[in-house]
Amino acid sequence: MNQYAVWGNPIAQSKSPRIHQLFAEQTQKSLNYSAKLGDEQDFETQLKQFFADGAKGANITAPFKERTFDLADVHSEACLQAEACNTLKHLEDGRLYADNTDGLGLVSDLKRLGWLNPNQHILILGAGGATKGVLYPLLQAKQQITLYNRTPEKAVSLAEKFAKFGKIQTAYLDEIADETFDLIINATSLGLQGKYVELPRQLMIQANIYDMQYAVNMNTPFLQYARSQGAKSVQDGLGMLVGQASYAFQLWEDILPNVEPVLERLKQEMNK
Ligand code: NDP
Repeated sequence: MNQYAVWGNPIAQSKSPRIHQLFAEQTQKSLNYSAKLGDEQDFETQLKQFFADGAKGANITAPFKERTFDLADVHSEACLQAEACNTLKHLEDGRLYADNTDGLGLVSDLKRLGWLNPNQHILILGAGGATKGVLYPLLQAKQQITLYNRTPEKAVSLAEKFAKFGKIQTAYLDEIADETFDLIINATSLGLQGKYVELPRQLMIQANIYDMQYAVNMNTPFLQYARSQGAKSVQDGLGMLVGQASYAFQLWEDILPNVEPVLERLKQEMNK
C-alpha cells in the first residue's frame, strides 16, 4: 500500500489525512495517509527516514515549506517561483521532486466559484508564504494584482520578483480607497489572532471576498468583518485546501479527484 503523510508543527488540526482518505475512496485507490509532527531540529532527518522507509509522497505545511524546498532534488516551476514546497514525490530513482500546489488550489477554487475572469483587479492582503505561492499562477491567469502588506518592504520585494510574469504593484491602504477591485483575498495570518485588516466599506461591497483561512460556516474573523460591512459575496479557503490536495493526489496517483463532493463532505463534518 502506498504510504503518504502530511508533515507540520503543529499538525493535529490538519484536515489533509481526511481529505486524502476521501480522495482514495472516490478513486478506489488503496493508500495510507497519516499526519506527522515534524521536529524543529530534526525535520530533515525525519523526512529522509520517511522516504528511506519507502514512502511515495508527502505534503508539507507550516513551518517546513521553505526547508523542504532546500532539501528537494528537483523542483516544478511553481515550486521554484514560490521558493517553498507543499508536495513531495519520491521518484523511481530515489530523488525527491518538489511541487507547490497551493497556487493551483486557489486558482481552481476561484474558477469553481466563477470568480476568475480575465484581466480582473485583485487586492491581496499579506505578503507571506501563502501569497508567494499564489502569485505565479494568478499572474499566469492574467490577473492584475495589488499587494498590501503591514511590512511594505516585503510586498515591494515580491512585486519586483514577480513583475516579469504580469501586472503587479504595491499600495498602502490609504492609497486604495478610491480604487475598484473585483476580488479581495486575505492572505494574512491575522485571523489566527481573531483580527483582520480593516478596509474601506465600498471596497468590500463591490468585490468578491476570499479568505485563505477557513472556519465552520465560513466564520473567519475577516469574513465576519466583511459581512458586517455589507459584503455579499464571501468565501473561505476550504476549497483552496481541498484543491491543493487534489493536485498533490494527482501527482502521486495519476488521477485528479473530483473536489466538489469532498468539499461538501468536509463542510458537513465540520458543522457537526
Ligand atoms: P506567513 O506567516 O508567511 O505570513 C503572514 C502574513 O500575515 C504576512 O504578510 C504578515 O505581515 C501578515 N500579518 C501577520 N500578523 C499581522 C498583523 N498583526 N497585522 C498585519 N499583518 C499581519 O503566513 P502564510 O502566508 O503561510 O499564511 C497566511 C494565511 O493563509 C494563514 O491564515 C494560513 O492558514 C492561510 N493559508 C491557507 C491555505 C489554504 O489552503 N486554505 C494555504 C496556505 C496558507 P508581515 O509581513 O508584516 O509580518
